Amino acid sequence: MKRLTFVLILFVFCAFSSLCAQNSVDIDGRLQPLLDSFLAECDKYGIDYHDKLFQLKKIDISNTLPLEEGNTVLGMVTRDANNNIEEILINWAAMLDPEILKVVAFHEFAHHFLDYKHTCENCNEIMAVTNDSYFAIANDWDNQVAQLFTTSPAFIKKQAQTPIAAVSLQ
Ligand SMILES: [Zn+2]
Repeated sequence: MKRLTFVLILFVFCAFSSLCAQNSVDIDGRLQPLLDSFLAECDKYGIDYHDKLFQLKKIDISNTLPLEEGNTVLGMVTRDANNNIEEILINWAAMLDPEILKVVAFHEFAHHFLDYKHTCENCNEIMAVTNDSYFAIANDWDNQVAQLFTTSPAFIKKQAQTPIAAVSLQ
């Protein structure tokens, strides 16, 4: 009896630890506060992020993204063979200024968690391909974040689904 209990406990422990292994995302500590504040906004707008978070392998600061005149990549997402995003990478150079880091991180997070493509080639929005002025965005941060979320594909999709769900409950 004792042996059976031990085996059972071991089995449960192994099952649990393998679940834990699948559910780990490697997040650079310097990006964690920004991720936390982004996910708090997801909560505020009712956007579920659990599956997308654990789909990721890592959210990391990279030392190898291009940083040349005419070829600068401050952040990017990488995809697996099924075209699902698996890594969010932020160029170390974005850390030179906390406001730039915030804009770049929210931009990349929004690609993944809010299903965003770019909103314009060059304008002062978080989802622009390039920004003339990170300062302008940072100075208008609360509005920028509200716009980012309320006009996001994930939010619009959720809004469109909500009435249908309410009807089907009746
Ligand atoms: Zn982008």
